[in-house]
Amino acid sequence: MTDFPPPSDRPKAANLAALRLFRPVLFAVGAIGVTLGALILIHHPASQAPPAPATVANVVLPDPEPAPPLTTADFKGFHLKLPDTTAEAEQPASDRYELTLRLEQGDTVEKLLADIAVPEADRKQINEALQALLKKRKLAIGEALALVIQTLADQPDAPRVLSLSVRPQPEQEFTVTRKDDGAYAGEEKTYKVSPRIVRVEAEIQGSLQQSGVHGGAPVAAMNEFIKALSYDVDFQRELKAGQHFTVLLEQSVTSDGKVTHQGRLLAGELRLLKRTATVVRFRPLNGADQFYNAQGESVMRSFLRTPMDASHITSHFGMREHPILGFSAMHTGVDFGAPMGTPILAAGAGKVTMAGPNAGYGIFVKLQHTQQIGTGYGHMSRLGPGIRPGATVRQGQVIGFVGSTGMSTGPHLHYEFYRDGHPVNPLAQKFALRAALAGKDLGRFQGLTRSYLNEMKSAPHVAETVAPPPEPKPRNPVKPQLAGGG
Ligand SMILES: [Zn+2]
Repeated sequence: MTDFPPPSDRPKAANLAALRLFRPVLFAVGAIGVTLGALILIHHPASQAPPAPATVANVVLPDPEPAPPLTTADFKGFHLKLPDTTAEAEQPASDRYELTLRLEQGDTVEKLLADIAVPEADRKQINEALQALLKKRKLAIGEALALVIQTLADQPDAPRVLSLSVRPQPEQEFTVTRKDDGAYAGEEKTYKVSPRIVRVEAEIQGSLQQSGVHGGAPVAAMNEFIKALSYDVDFQRELKAGQHFTVLLEQSVTSDGKVTHQGRLLAGELRLLKRTATVVRFRPLNGADQFYNAQGESVMRSFLRTPMDASHITSHFGMREHPILGFSAMHTGVDFGAPMGTPILAAGAGKVTMAGPNAGYGIFVKLQHTQQIGTGYGHMSRLGPGIRPGATVRQGQVIGFVGSTGMSTGPHLHYEFYRDGHPVNPLAQKFALRAALAGKDLGRFQGLTRSYLNEMKSAPHVAETVAPPPEPKPRNPVKPQLAGGG
């Protein structure tokens, strides 16, 4: 049994992820404050504006050519966007600018417009047109409103809103636009969403999960990758820093390039010291999505590799000198040394056929998994909860605890594996016991695997397709103090 990710890495990864998640939020919160503060100062130079934070004194309006350039057209940041310099030749002094503001705690669209001194009549109309579009939906705190503002020469203190857009979901945008007659009209735009295949290629630094997330893979996809590998890879022993891995992700992208889903794991490859572990997502006919190895065998074993966490083999299957009886005898199972009380897990799903004292085996449990296959567990200190003859068990369920009952020299698990009632070597069985694809499914799988393996080398790297830090778009109230707690 291997667990994932190594427990010691889990909190660290979570903290890092949280930090990374909240860093843009912190930045955004600061930036909103600064921007609003600056705007208030600009528009009400002598007003009784709330005491401005000390930082406002240092505000420098952003450079017209901020570095590094944000390539995505949709990222407007929190800055005043100065007019396009090429247009200036025809229009001597552009009176328009774009502005992105975010809703704050307790904020409304009307209040936000009032804060930038939009005249009351316009505010009302804009809000009505927007509410008609949103119907009953409420905009989340932190939602970005993209505004195009015009400053009139004769009314410099009453900016005119030419348009206001909000995009609560990447595939859906609501825009309120000012018409020639001065009235505001709303429009809803829907963007088509289609899949895009990208890859994350990286080296292991820290945990596998952390390394993938750092490379741009979503946490959920890395967790799936790790889980799919965990049946085959012993993370404690086989995973080393510097090992190379690739994951292939299917993102959902709108027709104008916004990512609505960060990526579902399609396939992945992990290069270990002596071999490469490959997992491929596939849905067989009449089946559910599952991961398979490159040979088309399900990654999930019908049986666990070892029926315990943290154990080591102390005696193999076969002839040996019996430690108590003192003569040569067949050892009909494998012994795993483990501390007293270590939970023993059902190697596979099945039915309990024996549970209790059994001569030299001590407290013993026998499970029947299929008509042919059974397993046995000896020398337990006690039975697991609910374990009695006739009970059904799931794979990985605790059926008892390590002890030294019966003919035993110290705490260990004596594990037996039966085929048609005869003990066989448990460690020699594992590969025969996977579900494998066959027939049409196998043909389809092989075609898909070939194309995935190609795309793991040729698909665009996730970093090439994703905009710089993603725009923080909280769906729930942003509580800045959360960020401080991490
Ligand atoms: Zn034994």
